[in-house]
Amino acid sequence: MENDCVFCKIISGEIKAKTVFSDELITVFEDIHPVAPVHLLIVPNKHISSINQIQDEDSPVLARLFYVARDLAKQHGIDEKGFRVMVNTGKDGKQTVFHLHMHLIGGRELAGRLMN
Ligand code: AMP
Ligand code: ZN
Repeated sequence: MENDCVFCKIISGEIKAKTVFSDELITVFEDIHPVAPVHLLIVPNKHISSINQIQDEDSPVLARLFYVARDLAKQHGIDEKGFRVMVNTGKDGKQTVFHLHMHLIGGRELAGRLMN
């Protein structure tokens, strides 16, 4: 738990969010400004600021980000048609919340190139 971290506050229940899944490692909630019909944030319960701060010991939770993305894509019926996962990092990567998170975006055909 990091002071003044909005995602830590969502994970602890201090701030409300539309949570769709949680377990001992991961919390998933709807993005407050969705860019597609499905826009979920898959978030480690442990406060890790960004990819720059991940450590070898974080391997289990980092793997779970992908397993949870797989399961939620299937649950939302977008696994076959496809979807995108994104982890924005740092200033140039336009990261705005400095608690590691994976965007899971789908439910419509996305632009045919990476956002710039
Ligand atoms: P990023 O730019 O990758 O750091 O993405 C941060 C994301 O968090 C943005 O898409 C925001 O819309 C989303 N976000 C910020 N605050 C909240 C919140 N309180 N509940 C849900 N999503 C949020
Ligand atoms: Zn945090």
